[in-house]
Amino acid sequence: MLLCVQFRESVLNPSMIQQSESSTDSALWEQVQTLLKNSMSQPSFETWIHPLRLNGLQSGKMQLVAPSDFNRDWVLKNYRAQLTQAFSACLDHEVQIEVSVQVPAAIETQAEIEDEEIELPQPAKPDSKWRPWTPKSLQGNLNPRYTFENCVVGNHNRFCHAAALAVAETPAQTYNPFFIYGGVGLGKTHLMQAIAHFALKHHPDLQVKYVTAEQFTNDLINALSTKTMKAFRDKYRKIDILMIDDVQFLEGKERTQEEIFHTFNALHQSGKQIILSSDRPPQTLTALEDRLRSRFEWGLIADVQSPDVETRQAILQKKADRENFNVCPDVLKLIAESHPNNVRELEGALNKVAAYSMLTNTILDPDTARSVLGMQINPAQVSQEKIIDTVARYYHLQSCDLKSPSRAKDVSHARQVAIYIIRTMTEASFPKIGEMLGNRTHTTILYAYEKIKTDLNQHPALGQQIQEITARVKSCR
Ligand code: ADP
Ligand code: MG
Repeated sequence: MLLCVQFRESVLNPSMIQQSESSTDSALWEQVQTLLKNSMSQPSFETWIHPLRLNGLQSGKMQLVAPSDFNRDWVLKNYRAQLTQAFSACLDHEVQIEVSVQVPAAIETQAEIEDEEIELPQPAKPDSKWRPWTPKSLQGNLNPRYTFENCVVGNHNRFCHAAALAVAETPAQTYNPFFIYGGVGLGKTHLMQAIAHFALKHHPDLQVKYVTAEQFTNDLINALSTKTMKAFRDKYRKIDILMIDDVQFLEGKERTQEEIFHTFNALHQSGKQIILSSDRPPQTLTALEDRLRSRFEWGLIADVQSPDVETRQAILQKKADRENFNVCPDVLKLIAESHPNNVRELEGALNKVAAYSMLTNTILDPDTARSVLGMQINPAQVSQEKIIDTVARYYHLQSCDLKSPSRAKDVSHARQVAIYIIRTMTEASFPKIGEMLGNRTHTTILYAYEKIKTDLNQHPALGQQIQEITARVKSCR
């Protein structure tokens, strides 16, 4: 406490010079953080408290600055009392806090601006039917590695991660349902299961169930065929946190959709938390019944995008540390640069390099790692113009056609294919691709990318075409 008292005197002394004010602020903030760290879970601390900045005492209140509206609102709603107590304890007298939001820096890089494109949270709907839970347990298998602690946070998932933690801290009280969407291998299942791990640890009385949409369907088919529908319904409707992963697989499965619709209503009405994930936002799940799709849109929708190269490297480093892989930073950088769109593939490449290194008892240099991974090419370095040119030629068009305003069917299709290939082979963001293809909007590019992704599932011939074009792009370098 001696330190705290000394601090109080210095912070309240108006004659102090600027330099020492900020250093005492940071000493106070250190102490407050130390107090809070001991009374919170690590993910909650890292997500809500650590990003705050102390701006000193103004108008009798401790001024804190949060990185986003979402962060500020959550801190004020859930941690105001803890923060006030911690400051008061360190200063040895009662002090109020105020949290404002950081004004964005005047100059931001384009990449930073693009990364900021996140859905805004919808206002929390107070749930009058929420009530305490009775002792419960976990149902379903969780991967023990998929925790908040093991999730690397970057611009690509910052909002989704914070929203997931908010849901885990106060299930069914804020964002219900919580809908996560994003491309394959970007960490949707990881975040969903992190909510389950967190809830089981901090609310051990909850009954938590994680299923994939496919498992739910199989469970339903089994119940129908064995005439055990009552047991099936009882099982699903008693759950406190139900997570259904990959709901895009429900498209076209009418009976399963109907059952999920009733399960959803029963759980939502009794104040239970529902968490869903999909590879697309709910509004584009067009083969789902309207009534189900609209329910999926009721709560909070958050997306996960492709991580940037620094975050990819951080993910690899974390995995290498956790699994005691002896891989040099240059090799991690090489893997991070060459796997732009899928964390699962990124991890697969690291596993391959680590296994080779262990078997041969050597620490790989980037050249050996490149040959172990069979990389003739570093996809991050593929020229986007080259892709546009190759796609145009493949469809007997010219690059300028793809960049023109033309909406003729063949031009439009070739343009969509080019968008898809650029997005999968390079690190170009949607706005960047739009710029390159005749200043088209981010939404147009996103739509084109999603369209080809969906068409690929239905038309194997399109997959063949894309493979051929990709091979041509690689061989022309
Ligand atoms: P999705 O469900 O989106 O297809 P997963 O959640 O299965 O993706 O993630 C694929 C792999 O990548 C998993 O091993 C997961 O742990 C890892 N992963 C994805 N994102 C992250 C992240 N931000 N930090 C650490 N690991 C991640
Ligand atoms: Mg998944």
